Amino acid sequence: MTDVVLDGVDKVYPGGLHAVHDLGLHIRDGELFVLLGPSGCGKSTVLRMIAGLEEITSGDLWLGGSVANELSPRDRNVAMVFQNGALYPHRSVRGNMMFPLQITKDDPVEARGKVTELARALGLDSMLDRLPGTLSGGQRQRVAMGRALIREPSLFLMDEPLSSLDAGLRAELRVEIAALVRSTGATTVYVTHDQVEAMTMADRIAVMRDGVLEDVGTPEQVYQDPATMFVAAFLSSPPINLMSATAWAVQDQGVVLDLGPQRLTLPWDDPRSTGLIHHHGEPVTVGLRADALTQVSGPATGQELTGQVRTLEFHGHEWLAYAEAGIPSVDATEFTQRVAPQHVEPAVSRVKALFRRPAPQPEPELEHTGHHRRTDLIFRIISGPRPQRGEEVRLAVALDRLLVFDARGRRIGPVSR
Ligand code: ADP
Ligand code: MG
Repeated sequence: MTDVVLDGVDKVYPGGLHAVHDLGLHIRDGELFVLLGPSGCGKSTVLRMIAGLEEITSGDLWLGGSVANELSPRDRNVAMVFQNGALYPHRSVRGNMMFPLQITKDDPVEARGKVTELARALGLDSMLDRLPGTLSGGQRQRVAMGRALIREPSLFLMDEPLSSLDAGLRAELRVEIAALVRSTGATTVYVTHDQVEAMTMADRIAVMRDGVLEDVGTPEQVYQDPATMFVAAFLSSPPINLMSATAWAVQDQGVVLDLGPQRLTLPWDDPRSTGLIHHHGEPVTVGLRADALTQVSGPATGQELTGQVRTLEFHGHEWLAYAEAGIPSVDATEFTQRVAPQHVEPAVSRVKALFRRPAPQPEPELEHTGHHRRTDLIFRIISGPRPQRGEEVRLAVALDRLLVFDARGRRIGPVSR
């Protein structure tokens, strides 16, 4: 049983950089768990704390039911693969994969058998006698994985193992890695900044931003039912439409989301309306993915948005259309590019930190305040007639897919987990 629990974990680097804030996670035994977030958000720091390569400033790490903060890395039965899984250049593929077993003085015949078997699973069986220098990047990463898995670790940690490979190879290898680690049954924590990798591989995803956990759930949960605007924006391609609105509770209608020149109404029996009452007269952000908008003709229903098509893009399996709708919007791409490390007082003593909760800090202002700009509504056309450039279109809104966020970027309405 190797489940991993992080309980109120903080990491402050010696220079004072507060890289991880009060992190709470429960990674279940045998799970393929992905840590996702933009570069610099603290993913590697978390992984290194789990591996024992980085000291935990405060909070507890539990491995398989015991507190492991002080356990040395080699007592954790953990294997790790990095972005550039460095190999021994003068050892063959077999020699590299065998090496951990030679250290533990395993029986050489048995060890050879194990290597052959694992090499087959990794598609390396025909290259066991080759030197790393003669292999492609993808093959070298497979060898690095083989070397990590050969000891049958109960916990397998991978830090962006595919990020130095080209896109085609990445797509191919992510399928193989997911299948392989599932077949070993090892609890796996996989770090990436690539949302597609996270969505396609993970049993569950934790999304981090600036050292803070934003959301955790299955790929479907974090995509369809995100806890925050950052998560909605980070997990979206094409970018989610984020529109600035004001919420008005109107007695006979429901909650009106005033988008400036346009509006949408959530009826009173909608589960989001209850939460929105508390935001009467306040600015909120409405999120709609490109596939929650469908061009319609026929009589207007009042639950539609209108716009003028400016651009059409062909993407093979679909077209994307961009329509000017006059609605002030929030630039979703800003969320995916921001890196803002926070500095705190250096030298927080571990004991002190354990007993002292950090002073409540003012919530950071989200960048959408003051960064309104008019952008187009993006919608998807998968089949049916395609509008012309310059055409006025009416877009039916899939109200069940509509997401509303408060001024701090938190979802308004129930988030089910
Ligand atoms: P990620 O893996 O998500 O890109 P990291 O965990 O590497 O993020 O880094 C999180 C933050 O901690 C970054 O601001 C980074 O510069 C900082 N950091 C990482 N390692 C150290 C270190 N050894 N000393 C000081 N700061 C560090
Ligand atoms: Mg990293």
